[in-house]
Formats: sequence, C-alpha cells, structure tokens
Amino acid sequence: MPVKNRFAELQAEITEWRRDMHEHPEILFETHRTSALVAEKLKEFGCDEIVTGIGRTGVVGVIKGKSDSAGKVIGLRADMDALPILEATGLDYASKTDGAMHACGHDGHTAMLLGAAKYLAETRNFDGSVVVIFQPAEEGGGGGKEMCDDGMMDRWGIQEVYGMHNWPGQPVGAFAIRPGAFFAATDTFDIAFEGKGGHAAKPHETIDTTVMTAQAVLALQTIASRNADPVDQIVVSVTSFETSSNAHNVIPQKVQLKGTVRTMSRAMRDLAETRIKDVCAGVATTFGGSVDVDYNRGYPVMVNSEEQTEFAADVARSVSGQCEDAPLVMGGEDFAFMLEERPGAYILVGNGDTAMVHHPEYNFNDEAIPAGCSWWAEIVEKRMPAA
Ligand SMILES: [Zn+2]
Ligand SMILES: [Zn+2]
Repeated sequence: MPVKNRFAELQAEITEWRRDMHEHPEILFETHRTSALVAEKLKEFGCDEIVTGIGRTGVVGVIKGKSDSAGKVIGLRADMDALPILEATGLDYASKTDGAMHACGHDGHTAMLLGAAKYLAETRNFDGSVVVIFQPAEEGGGGGKEMCDDGMMDRWGIQEVYGMHNWPGQPVGAFAIRPGAFFAATDTFDIAFEGKGGHAAKPHETIDTTVMTAQAVLALQTIASRNADPVDQIVVSVTSFETSSNAHNVIPQKVQLKGTVRTMSRAMRDLAETRIKDVCAGVATTFGGSVDVDYNRGYPVMVNSEEQTEFAADVARSVSGQCEDAPLVMGGEDFAFMLEERPGAYILVGNGDTAMVHHPEYNFNDEAIPAGCSWWAEIVEKRMPAA
C-alpha cells in the first residue's frame, strides 16, 4: 500500500501548519505558542482528551478507536522545539525570531503528527486508543524525560511508543531503521585543573596548569584508542580549553576543560566516566596539581525494541516501498527516555538532498509529509486492527 490518499489531500494544509511553526520557532521548554497551536488543532479535530502542561509545556491528546475490545494503547511522539541558530535559508517563511530556528525539522515532525491525528480522529478505524505526544525541549532539555517523570506512560496506559525523525541525504519519504542501540548516550564533562600561578619567566616557582592540562587533553584521547574495545563505539571530545589568564607573561592558576562523550552501551559509558576521572587524577598528581572532574550523564542510549522495530519496518515498506538498515548515530535523542519506559521504535524518514540538521540553511522537506503521516496512521491501523 502506498501513501494514503487522504494525506495527499491534506498535504497543503499540513504544509501551512509547518511553515507557520517554522516562522515562529521556540527553544527548549519555551514552546508556548507551538503548544497552544497544537492543543487548539487537537481540539478542532475532535480528540477525546487534550491535556497541556505535561513536562512543563508538553501536550498530550487521546483519540479513541471505533472499538476497544482489548484495551490497547499506542503512543505516537513528536518534538516541538527549535535551536538557538541564526537562520540563513532566505525563505519567505524564515524565522521571525533572531537567533532561533527550526534547524532540526521538529516543525515538520509536529505538523506530520498533527496531520495523522486529524486523519485518525476522522476515521477512527482501529481497535484501542492512540495517545499523541508533543514534547518540548528535545534539543538538550530532556522534555521527553520530564513528560515521563510526570507519569505520562501510566496515566494514559501507554503500552508501546513510536517516534520519527527526518533525515537529510536519504531519498524523500524513504525510511531507515535499526533494532537495538540506535542513537548514542550523550554525556558532558567539566574538568578544572588547579596548580600554582605565577610569573611566566619563573616557571620553577609555579605549578603550570597549562602544561598539565595539555597532557590531560592528549591522554583523554587514549580512552577511545587504548581502553575501549575497538568494535565498540565511543567518542571523547574535548571542546573547550579555558585558562584563568589572558596575559603573555602569566602562568594561570586554573584551567577548565569542557567536552562530550558519546557511547552505545552502558559498559562503554561506565568505562568513559571511570577513565576520565582516573586519567585526570593521574595527570594532576604527576604535575603536583589538583583536579576536579564533573561528569554529567545526559540522554541514555536510545534502544529500539526488536519486535516493534520489525513491525515499524514492515509498515514503512508498505508506505514507501523502501526501508533501509539505518547506521548507528552518535548524536543523542531524548526519545531514549520513553523507550526506556515502554517498548517501541524510532524511524528515520528521508528529507532528500538538503543541508544537514542543525545547519543554518537546513529546511524540513514538505514532500515527506504524505509518507510520514501515512506511517503514523498505518502503525495504528495495523497494530490495532478494527474488528
Ligand atoms: Zn536536533
Ligand atoms: Zn531533531
């Protein structure tokens, strides 16, 4: 079965919603306008229940099927937030907010899930209930986690949960997915080395933090190259090196490092944390200084459940004829928290030959709308077939 005819009809309308959101991007939990727009649309579609304020600015809608013989409940999730990027697309519907931009296509995700909600509320051709989940703060704020922490899964009895992301470089409307670990755990670290500052012409009277920290930066690279099993994925990147002096003739008292760690398993994540702490402590001791390491665990590894992934891939093939095996992604995804609470699957839908997500010239491809919406609708109608 190709895309549903109804979505070909609705494409222009869904595109309008998408471009309106694109023009008014909102960051992190500040999705007030977007959340209000989502809630208003869900009401207009005749959803059975609409609740705002889940995970601060998240919105949840419930659509009941024609029948409910087995009490099945499926959750479908989209993200609503934009990024702190200055848009450079030159589009006539480009961002009207300086320094905010829908550079990850969450405007498209929200519009597509709204489109699916409209269709599902019109047809109700399924046996059970659908919970549409619109989350804020995917880009680093953990909005999905906050919705889970607010008890969303239990409150609506959600049994399985599905998510979708557009993917530049993949043919428009073609799908890709993989079972198991898919997106990386994303952690950050803040490291502060302290020595003894002083005159740069009298190094022997100081404990030089710059030299000490430079050794640490190099030694941290051996975690990936020497400690980790080469077949396991890990990225350790030091991204900031800031000394407490700007002068040519001062040895700084303190140096601060920042960076990120990406891993695909709990074991690698634990290894990274332990080794970063040990390496830094060892370097500090060697040079006679001290160090303070703050390791912050962010999003966990996003793991697709086997059964739901197979089902999601079958649906994708029926919609667009294509579903490739997706590669591992070392980026993070807040949907990981929802997949920790319930089985489910996360799929990529092709955005065509566009700039990559998070680039100032990126734009969501509205031609992906019929495929994306059809996938949502088919997930529901095939997983909970009407009697
Ligand atoms: Zn993003
Ligand atoms: Zn995204």
